[in-house]
Amino acid sequence: MKTNPITLNSTRYDVDLLGFICDAPARSFIKGTYGHNSSYACDRCHVKGEYFEHTMTFCEESTRKRTHEEFVMFSVANDEEREELPESVFRHIKMTSPLANCTDMVRDYPLEFMHLICQGVVRKILIYLTSRIPTKLSRHDINKINRNIEMISAQFPVEITRKPRSLKYLDRFKASEFKIFLLYVGPIVFHKILRRDLFQHFLLLHSAIRILTSNGVSSEELEDANGYIDLFFKESRRLYGKKFVTYNVHVLLHLVDDYMMFGNIDRISAFDFESYLGFIKRMLRSHSKPLEQIQNRLREGVPLVKGKNVPILKLKKLNEGKYYELCSQGITLSNKRRNAMFATTDGYYYFFCHVTRSETGHIIIHCKQIIAIDDLFNYPRASRLNGIFLVKKISSRTSEVEVDQISQKGAVFKSELGLVCCLFRS
Ligand SMILES: [Zn+2]
Repeated sequence: MKTNPITLNSTRYDVDLLGFICDAPARSFIKGTYGHNSSYACDRCHVKGEYFEHTMTFCEESTRKRTHEEFVMFSVANDEEREELPESVFRHIKMTSPLANCTDMVRDYPLEFMHLICQGVVRKILIYLTSRIPTKLSRHDINKINRNIEMISAQFPVEITRKPRSLKYLDRFKASEFKIFLLYVGPIVFHKILRRDLFQHFLLLHSAIRILTSNGVSSEELEDANGYIDLFFKESRRLYGKKFVTYNVHVLLHLVDDYMMFGNIDRISAFDFESYLGFIKRMLRSHSKPLEQIQNRLREGVPLVKGKNVPILKLKKLNEGKYYELCSQGITLSNKRRNAMFATTDGYYYFFCHVTRSETGHIIIHCKQIIAIDDLFNYPRASRLNGIFLVKKISSRTSEVEVDQISQKGAVFKSELGLVCCLFRS
């Protein structure tokens, strides 16, 4: 595919391989390696796992890095020669994959954000906090967290279609709910309920992933993220016990390397594929012969690739020359609090009031500036750096902002902590 372009409906497509995005079992299947429960499971280093209470654990820190050359050595060696390879190589590689001839068997297989972190580490933390001794929270605290989740769920902005649910539904959580919990909800609903050391441990992961799921991160911030992950890893065993430190927790240590190769780890995750699976499932009209049905729908003209989110500018709810809702580039702002908060490219925060159109057709957003904020937490860094803060003062004067100055939408939650703002990643 890399050397021979594909032609579909007379259009030529050149294929450039970025990487294979799969969960851990699929990754070991296509690479020909042993599974993530084997003793040399790590795709990136030679760390040796230890079987402990029916679980493969990886409590040692990262060791010597794996290379593509190990896969080449394995593929050219005969059975006897393979036995002489280091144990960490022949107990990692099970068979020679055809992909070894055309891909870098280490670099081209990114660690996958959705399965490893959202459905892996975040889910595990929530399970330990709700059901595993000694970290299990009291019934009273779990109820309090659930009330907090339900309260902010009702205030979530319109762009988030899957609203956070109470931990009562934890076994039915979708991957996107774990993601929202880690990036936005957790630091707010855990605040002042979770034991201090457990809360700080969660914030280490939250802060690191906030950084690694952003674009254009500086080398200093990447160093910070690496430090937070190191500390998260070291503290995991002390706080949650040895069984907690499985493959998913260990490979966090290699995430910054992935960011340096691929950028924003959310961009190389399975989330896009999962949402496209939903699109495919909606093509089905019955349970019988699903593949044939999909082929028929495609023949009927359902597009194979969804259209891009084209920037649009819509104004709604006109009253006395003022518009009370603005839709632009996938963001909706309105005078309802849940859809009112936004940030501008020059780093200021505002609450939307209304929009007017000048005689020349120019669109002006009238808004109130947030003039004083406070951090919700300061560990391991100020919460405002993660886009989460408390509103302390709003200007009484109305400001005017142009549409192209909007950089991010925010969510606003009225809670016992005060008015909490939470910016979505740019
Ligand atoms: Zn490793």
